[in-house]
Amino acid sequence: MKLESQSISFNVKSNLELVEKLKQRGHITSGRIEDAFVSVDRAQFVPKKHSEYAYRDRPLGIGETATISAPHMVAMATEILNPEEYSDVLEIGSGSGYQLAILSELSENVTGIEIDKNLAEKSRMRLENQRNVRIVHGDGLEAAEGKFDRILYSCAIDEQEFDRAKRKLNDNGKLVAPLTQNGDQIYSSYQNGETKKHTRVRFVRMR
Ligand code: SAH
Repeated sequence: MKLESQSISFNVKSNLELVEKLKQRGHITSGRIEDAFVSVDRAQFVPKKHSEYAYRDRPLGIGETATISAPHMVAMATEILNPEEYSDVLEIGSGSGYQLAILSELSENVTGIEIDKNLAEKSRMRLENQRNVRIVHGDGLEAAEGKFDRILYSCAIDEQEFDRAKRKLNDNGKLVAPLTQNGDQIYSSYQNGETKKHTRVRFVRMR
């Protein structure tokens, strides 16, 4: 299994260069996803004090217990989730709103759940012009009404929570999450009764 932290970080000067790097390294393969990454400027989601690292392939602190994920992780999450045009998409732990903004370029109906009130409010302001996005300040699945075609966890969860999320999927729906198992976090996906393990990762744990 590949260790994510072994990939060498890059630091470029623009969002377009960032997208080029992600393509070169094979993190972005789909044209639709490339377009979404071009449309969303990561610098808009990075706190001012970290602005010089906006296009660096590293997670950055956005609050006490939250980070905006490294760009290659956001790319990988999006590729695995594979949101389609008419998908109802849910992200749990939407934090800065960067991943959510990418998803909103790909699907018509996108919901983010964020437990940190300050982050929920800030990200709502950032995405106020994006009509297909709703951000709910709340605790995980409890805060999400109905079922979804795609569920993405941006915080690490256990097997029990993974099973709970399966029951919130529509037919043919897909679930993607960092799953904690024996102290490791394994990026995992589930669709149509089949679970796949992708790579070892490190995410903020679900509260
Ligand atoms: N996708 C985000 C990453 C944020 S880090 C981004 O692009 O910025 C993970 C987030 O999960 C944190 O913001 C944290 O506050 C949130 N979180 C943790 N437990 C949660 C819970 N029970 N419900 C909702 N959000 C939660």
